[in-house]
Amino acid sequence: MTKKDLLSDKIRLNIGGLDFVTYEDTLKRFPESKLANLSTSADNYDDDKHEYFFDRNPVLFAFVLDAYRKGEIHLPSDICGPTFRNELEFWELSLSHVAPCCWKALYKRDDDIKTVHKLMESYKRNASMRLILDYHSTWRKKLWLFLEDPYSSKFAMAWVTFISILVIASTVAEIMLTLPEFSEEFDDSEKHAVDMVLAIYEKTNHTTTRLHSMKPNWYLNTATMCCQIILTFELVLSLLVCPAKKTYVCNLIRISVTLGYVAYWVSYAFENNLSALNSKALVFVYVICRYGAILRLARLFYLSKGVPAFNVVGLTFSSSIPEFKILIFLLGILVCVFGYMMFATEFAGNENMGSIFATLYWALVTLTTVGYGDIVPYTRVGHAIASLCAVCGIIVLALPVGIIASTFNKFYNFNSYVSTHVKLNTDVLKEIEEQGNAFTCKKKRIM
Ligand SMILES: [Zn+2]
Repeated sequence: MTKKDLLSDKIRLNIGGLDFVTYEDTLKRFPESKLANLSTSADNYDDDKHEYFFDRNPVLFAFVLDAYRKGEIHLPSDICGPTFRNELEFWELSLSHVAPCCWKALYKRDDDIKTVHKLMESYKRNASMRLILDYHSTWRKKLWLFLEDPYSSKFAMAWVTFISILVIASTVAEIMLTLPEFSEEFDDSEKHAVDMVLAIYEKTNHTTTRLHSMKPNWYLNTATMCCQIILTFELVLSLLVCPAKKTYVCNLIRISVTLGYVAYWVSYAFENNLSALNSKALVFVYVICRYGAILRLARLFYLSKGVPAFNVVGLTFSSSIPEFKILIFLLGILVCVFGYMMFATEFAGNENMGSIFATLYWALVTLTTVGYGDIVPYTRVGHAIASLCAVCGIIVLALPVGIIASTFNKFYNFNSYVSTHVKLNTDVLKEIEEQGNAFTCKKKRIM
């Protein structure tokens, strides 16, 4: 090709006011693209200036044009990937021309966008947000907000703190009731009832003596009951004033709290009427209720509303489900492999490892690096397998934990950006309010 030919093949491109000049041959490098198929009869061709005009970003176009010169697309690492993809789409350039060294720059923001969307979703799920914005709220809504959202006012915060103290106090009282110092001897008629219960279970004399002196101390018992009366009253009140009963019932935390309260009152009723415990099933129900009452501790989660770290923990768990699956899958396989191997080497001379169930338990305890040491191998081969098992445990546990930790880190960092954005941008709040999905029953409700 002569010098004159080359010059006549030059093409002038005006991109957003900046001039770019290149050879026609260069543009033919990607034949399917828009620039390879320019036509002088098109609307964007200026006959006077002999140039094509495109109203695009000239900064991004510099990289697009460079791609024609190099034969592959490279982009600066600080560029927003989705924006650049839009640009490539406009120029009809396939993503397959992007060089592997630049894939990270092209796709890394997608992950960030997902994180932000998940955080925004969790903001939208925060039902009370809508009410905070509702300036014309009725007394019912105000009362609900007071009971429900500690961050709505100082009084609400004081109330939640008071309730939390009650929950903690009643739990501590319950724990203290199991100490000998805080329990009394049952009187004779009650002892008879206890004996009847024990007869059902055929317990030893030692248990009988212990249980005879396990009557809950009356003042601790009364204190717990008083706390529980206030807590139950609060729960019923909040259910009555809640504007959206369906959402209320669907909340996992409220379900736990309600179950805890119900369990407490059932066990309370049984305790005051020991003779009613006349069958194995009823005793079973009583024991479950007695200790199931610990579920009311879930009430403390109300305090955590608005504390970003708690919200982020929930989000991290819900978005780390694939990692948990990997963890459980790997752990399951390794537990089986090492459990079977250990059984095969030890079953003859080791009475602790007489069943595969025992060796599976041993493998799980070793792999999770707990290592109680209650079951140990005796043979040399057994020791070798145990060492291998311990090393595998460390490696397998470390892999997903690192990923989950980095997910948490990402959510934590982005949460501050999102909350600042929501605070500064009242339109976002309005949008959340208008969407009104704050009061719909969500399947995947975290808090
Ligand atoms: Zn590159």
